[in-house]
Amino acid sequence: QYICFSFAIRGDRRMPWVQLAGHEGSFQTGECGTVLKKLSPEEKHSLEALMDDVVKPFAPSYMGTREIDGQDYIEMRDLLTGFDTAVSVMDCKLGIRTYLEEELTKAKAKPTMRPDMYTKMIEVDANEPTAEEHAQQAVTKPRYMQWRETISSTATLGFRVEGVKKPNGFSSKDYKFTKRKEDVVEVFKHFTDCNPDIIQIYIHRLKDLRKAVAVSPFFASHEVIGSSLLLIHDTAGLAGVWMIDFAKTVPLPENIHIDHFRPWVEGNHEDGYLIGLNNLIGCFEEILRQ
Ligand code: ATP
Ligand code: MG
Ligand code: MG
Repeated sequence: QYICFSFAIRGDRRMPWVQLAGHEGSFQTGECGTVLKKLSPEEKHSLEALMDDVVKPFAPSYMGTREIDGQDYIEMRDLLTGFDTAVSVMDCKLGIRTYLEEELTKAKAKPTMRPDMYTKMIEVDANEPTAEEHAQQAVTKPRYMQWRETISSTATLGFRVEGVKKPNGFSSKDYKFTKRKEDVVEVFKHFTDCNPDIIQIYIHRLKDLRKAVAVSPFFASHEVIGSSLLLIHDTAGLAGVWMIDFAKTVPLPENIHIDHFRPWVEGNHEDGYLIGLNNLIGCFEEILRQ
């Protein structure tokens, strides 16, 4: 499993930069507790708008853009700053789908048969293709995109675990097939070592985020796709949750209103962000009940 460590100087301590998801070459460590991520206009727009919204305390502070060797980056606070060196980090990708409506529309406009996607599908589940798809040994891209969300907990719970790292050296991105609530709860138990104090802080913070999302002008006007919550705690008992990854967060078309909770039907732009947030809280609460 790939986890990237490079060393940034934070205050007078050297501390590893932890990257749980995403492409290897997308990040650089900045000076003084910042990280640089390759610029995308959507993410830049979102971070700028978030700095002026009620959910601001849940987003990394945004410092603007920087050019390094001809590549533009956005600069934001490294959320690990302030934690002790023995941190546990988990990335959960929110939403009931991880592609934009626009991506589905585009894929549907040219629904070519894809043998490569058929192969990937039968590697996971030989019974998934229909008789017709089996006969053609191919599936369309939109069919594949929609099916792919059902192999993890994305389609059912509205979020999925992308990666976990613990201070004992454990790190994994192997959660592609973690689908059932019971299995997600097990991942959370392992992540928190069932520490009730840490779990309580997470639940509190997630509920605060939920309240903020409900009144947020940013959420009222954006489809939030492929964005994650980064959960961080350390052995000193500090814990927090932040929103990251806004490369697929886009302004809603005019006259489209979403509440982030209604089921998605093609064209209504619902992202299921609050479905995921509720289920995330539910999984932590489940541990406390056990
Ligand atoms: P993908 O789209 O595949 O999810 P990406 O390339 O858009 O990935 P991000 O999801 O933004 O990248 O970030 C990847 C990882 O980097 C996160 O899982 C997290 O571990 C780390 N990371 C990102 N932003 C920050 C931050 N501000 N502070 C600390 N860690 C961060
Ligand atoms: Mg991400
Ligand atoms: Mg991303």
